[in-house]
Amino acid sequence: MTAASLDDALREATATLRASGVEYPAREARLLAELVVGRDDPRTLSSAEGRHLATLVARRARREPFAQIAGVREFWSLDFEVTMDTLIPRPDSETLIECCLDRFGRRPPARILDLGTGSGCLIVTLLVTWTGSSGIGVDVSERTCAVAARNVLRHGVGDRAWIVCGDWAGALDSTFDLVVANPPYVPGHDLAGLDPEVALHEPRLAIDGGVDGYACYRRIVPRLPTLLSRHGMAVIEHGPDQRDGLSGLASDHGLDVAGTADDLGGRHRVLFLAHREPWRKSLESADGLVTVR
Ligand code: GLN
Repeated sequence: MTAASLDDALREATATLRASGVEYPAREARLLAELVVGRDDPRTLSSAEGRHLATLVARRARREPFAQIAGVREFWSLDFEVTMDTLIPRPDSETLIECCLDRFGRRPPARILDLGTGSGCLIVTLLVTWTGSSGIGVDVSERTCAVAARNVLRHGVGDRAWIVCGDWAGALDSTFDLVVANPPYVPGHDLAGLDPEVALHEPRLAIDGGVDGYACYRRIVPRLPTLLSRHGMAVIEHGPDQRDGLSGLASDHGLDVAGTADDLGGRHRVLFLAHREPWRKSLESADGLVTVR
């Protein structure tokens, strides 16, 4: 193979990606080329560069997510390493960060727990933002923990963050002022309808919420009363149809819904949970009185 023009290579890449059902083939071809040659925009590709680009295009054509090919994804304006062992950070989860900042803005939580940390994007973003806080990110997969630990170091919060490999909060016996979680919550019957990028390449462990999508919430929610400090708050991501179900589960375990939030697409996405306040319960049971939160 000899040197080829970049334009020709991009045309070919675009056609390949389009034929594989990639949604924005021209843009993705350009982004893949940038991984090979940077943003310098040369007019020609060396034969080695041409082969490299062809390899990346073939991977993307098999619907491997761009973030996995690039090995990095931006979240809250920070770059996070991602691999096939981590859920790719999503804009939906930035809503969760926004919720935490809204709630705690002026008085950051001292101790934070992130259950099912994945790439570590939640705990790392919070610790980068709140420089006086410390936190623990837990994940059941050792390979995932290794990526999270690298992201901790990448963002310079290694002195305040610990990544723990474990089964949810099983190994923890302390309390936290803020518990965040984006656990797997996609119901079994929805898995088949996911985009190939998600269904074929993202870790099933990070998205499969069991038959009804609540399997992990049933593990996490019962632990929250002992994990939350007295005025602690849990900020939990959930699927668009799960607000009522998750609220009910929380209530069964003595927790109050202290707030809700929608994502940028207007879908129900986040629930705030806190210890039930005794006075709130008595108000709710008294005739004619409405609880104001
Ligand atoms: N929001 C993700 C998706 O739709 C799922 C994330 C999760 O299960 N926590 O692919």
